Amino acid sequence: MLACWRARPFLSNGHSNFRRGFCCRAEDQTVSLTERQNKKKVVIVGSGWAGLGAAHHLCKQGFDVTVLEGGYELGSKTKSLSPDDAGIRGFWYPYRNIFNLVDELDLLPFTNWTKSAQYSEEGLEFLRLPFVDRVTSLPLMAAVIDFDNTDTAWRKYDPITAREMLKQFGCSERLYRNILDPLLQVGLFAPAEQCSAAATLGMLYYYVLANQKNFDLAWCRGTVRETIFRPWMELLKTEGCRFLEGRKVTDVMVNEETGSISEVICEKESFKGDALIFAVGISTLQEIIQSSAALCGREEFLKILKLNSIDLLTVKLWLDRKVNIPYASNVSSGFDNSCAWTFFDLNAIYDEHKDSTSTIVQADFYYANDLLPLKDEKIVEKVMSWLSMCVKDFENATVIDKEIGRFPKLLTHFFPGSYKYMMRGSTSFPNLYMAGDWIVNRHGSWSQEKSYVTGLEAANRVVDYLEEGNFAKIIAVQEDEPHIQSLRSLNRNLYDIRAQLPFSKYFLQ
Ligand SMILES: Cc1cc2nc3c(=O)[nH]c(=O)nc-3n(C[C@H](O)[C@H](O)[C@H](O)COP(=O)(O)OP(=O)(O)OC[C@H]3O[C@@H](n4cnc5c(N)ncnc54)[C@H](O)[C@@H]3O)c2cc1C
Repeated sequence: MLACWRARPFLSNGHSNFRRGFCCRAEDQTVSLTERQNKKKVVIVGSGWAGLGAAHHLCKQGFDVTVLEGGYELGSKTKSLSPDDAGIRGFWYPYRNIFNLVDELDLLPFTNWTKSAQYSEEGLEFLRLPFVDRVTSLPLMAAVIDFDNTDTAWRKYDPITAREMLKQFGCSERLYRNILDPLLQVGLFAPAEQCSAAATLGMLYYYVLANQKNFDLAWCRGTVRETIFRPWMELLKTEGCRFLEGRKVTDVMVNEETGSISEVICEKESFKGDALIFAVGISTLQEIIQSSAALCGREEFLKILKLNSIDLLTVKLWLDRKVNIPYASNVSSGFDNSCAWTFFDLNAIYDEHKDSTSTIVQADFYYANDLLPLKDEKIVEKVMSWLSMCVKDFENATVIDKEIGRFPKLLTHFFPGSYKYMMRGSTSFPNLYMAGDWIVNRHGSWSQEKSYVTGLEAANRVVDYLEEGNFAKIIAVQEDEPHIQSLRSLNRNLYDIRAQLPFSKYFLQ
């Protein structure tokens, strides 16, 4: 039976998207050549949340910042595209650093807070249930309490799959199939049997359990690149930041005397820097490592080659008539498609499609290895059939235009056992730092917020290394509620006692 799980779209709960902060103006900001020559140089590779976050703080501290952007090729290879142009992005309440930034930039990029619908063959409401019901059983809650985002917690839970963990902690088959598996597929982009239990606990805690009262989210009223990054980059340019597009980084040069990275190579060009930040995804970094003798010589970079990333397919369809889509954002699972996917009513989300006479819908498929090789026509046929299973009215519509984006290896795969290969923010090169949604850090946030935070953390490392400027303020994830804090501290005490018992290290943990 087809069931729609959630109610009431676009409910505003008083947290309006009207944000005001200081406004930077463009006049008199041109940076002269001499001024630039006197500044310490920082080269940032990648202009997503992580790269721009780092550039933002370092420009404010007076560094000469150059951002190199490689971009991706879209389908026909005629258009270079950044990942932030693809897919629709949601913003949750705990994204406090991003909301703070958007205030500072004086932007209004978001819709009101919305709820999402979830479609499946059986259907079950989960996210509105109280805390204990949501974790289905007290034993699973024990895992959530036990996972405190420390290195120890990651090493303990990372080797097992999310499915194994849910099984061990007594999750019912129905709850797994209808709720937790689809949730992981759209949150971690892979089925539960392919996800690390540590990543699952970290993500569940951050999005669901620590924010029990509000699981609503806001959407960007256009692509993230257009609505947030473009104006942000314009502001950074006025502060002297250089953005160089079409620069695919291929290698680095090492100063043999100091052991530091002295230059970044983009095919035939090179860029000198006193410090360097890599703010790119796993697959990009893997490509760079494979072509770089300097990086291949370091253990921490060789380990990156063991990591995996996930394929994404985005399908944007223009229909010949208005289809009544009850909710702007939707998660779908089951039916004849084995993986969960999302679809969005762009007329309701994007400003540019608000007044369109046709329905414009976008469906995003993660873990889409089996869909990427299909011809466009076949993809459209499948997507329309799946859409019709969720909202019957799609059956009456005809596709009049389409835009299909194939992005192999775009998304981070937190597969079981991957934690030990992930990089930290600092590297064995004294002036090379890492940022991005897959970097190990202790902030506790995920996805866009995590990328932005790791960008600020990388900027702080540069400030520390170059001994100039102030540290960026990073807003911590909201503190645990008192009952969770007590349970966590009790659990830590028990852990310490257990660790002192004889043979405690003898058995496989
Ligand atoms: C379809 C989709 C939906 C998502 N939905 C959400 C959501 O709802 N909410 C959420 O919070 N997160 C979501 N995410 C995840 C979120 O978008 C990412 O976590 C975040 O954007 C990662 O930012 P980043 O800066 O770390 O990396 P990226 O955004 O990947 O930035 C890396 C940059 O490096 C550039 N680059 C690539 N190769 C090179 C090279 N060789 N040289 C120089 N530059 C290069 C790229 O073009 C890009 O600009 C989604 C992701 C996708 C793909």
